[in-house]
Amino acid sequence: MITWITHPEYDIPLPPGHRFTSTKFSDLFELLKKSEYIESANILVPEKANAEQVAIAHCSKYVEKIANGSLDEKEQRRLGLRWSPVLAKRSFIAVNGSLLAARSALQYGVSCHLAGGTHHSHFDFGSGFCVFNDLAFTALTLTKTKEVKNILIFDCDVHQGDGTARILENNNRTFTCSIHSSKNFPYRKANSDLDIGLEDNMSWFGYKKHLVEGLNKCIDRFSPDLVLYVAGVDIHANDKLGRLSIDDEGLFEREMTVLNFFKKRDIPIATVMGGGYSDDNNELAYRHANVVKAAHQIWA
Ligand SMILES: [Zn+2]
Repeated sequence: MITWITHPEYDIPLPPGHRFTSTKFSDLFELLKKSEYIESANILVPEKANAEQVAIAHCSKYVEKIANGSLDEKEQRRLGLRWSPVLAKRSFIAVNGSLLAARSALQYGVSCHLAGGTHHSHFDFGSGFCVFNDLAFTALTLTKTKEVKNILIFDCDVHQGDGTARILENNNRTFTCSIHSSKNFPYRKANSDLDIGLEDNMSWFGYKKHLVEGLNKCIDRFSPDLVLYVAGVDIHANDKLGRLSIDDEGLFEREMTVLNFFKKRDIPIATVMGGGYSDDNNELAYRHANVVKAAHQIWA
C-alpha cells in the first residue's frame, strides 16, 4: 500500500485567469482515484495544525496575520494570493499534511502528499503562492520530537527553495538541496546547503546528469534518515512559469530516478507536490500524478 495524503478543503478560491490553478489539488486526487493505483492506496486526511505548532518554523506575528486575515495589500501581493478564510484554513491543514506524509514514510518507506512543497514561504512572510513552509515545519517538528535525526530536503521544483534554505540555514540536522532554473524566480537566491542552477531550455538529457550528481552529493555530505522530496512539475517544457524543456517521459524518469535512488539505500521518502502551472487542468494533474505512479511502481 502507498499512502496518499489529501484533504477535501485543499483547493484555493481564486479569481478567473489567475496563474495558479485553483483546483489543482482536487484535480490530482480525482485523476488518481480513477487510476488502477487506487486499489493499492491508503488514503489519510490530516488535521489542522494550530498557530503554536506552526510557529516552530515561523514568526508568531506572521502566523497570527494568516489566522486573522490582517495581511496588508503589499504582503498579499508578495504572496501572490488574496487572503481568505479558506486560504487560511487550508494553510494550517497543509503543513500537517506534509508532517503526516513524513511520519507515514518513516513507517512504510514512502508516502505521497497530494499538496505541499510551499518552499517560497519565509520565516516572517509568504511569497510566490506559499503561505507556510511545510518543509521547514515538518523538519523542525520531527527533529524536535527526535523522531528523526537528519532530514534531507531534496527540492526539484524549477524555482529555488529560498524560504526553506533561509529558515533552515543554520540548522545542522537538515540539509537543503535545490535543483532549479538559474534565471527564474526568486531573482535574489538564498544559499541552500547545495544549489544546482540550470541553464534555460535544458532537456531531460542534460537535466539527468545534474540530478544524479545532486543526489550523490547529498548523500556524500549528509546521512539522512528521511527525505522530503519536492516534486514540482514546473520543469516541464509546457509549464507556464518554467524555463526548462523536460518532456513527459523525462518528468516520469525524474520521479523514478529520485525514488529509486533512496529506495535502494533504504532511506524513507515523503513526496510533496510543489509547483506546476498550466491552463489545462487535466495536463497539470497528469504531470503531478507521475510521482505517485512512480511510487506505486517502485514499491509494488
Ligand atoms: Zn515552482
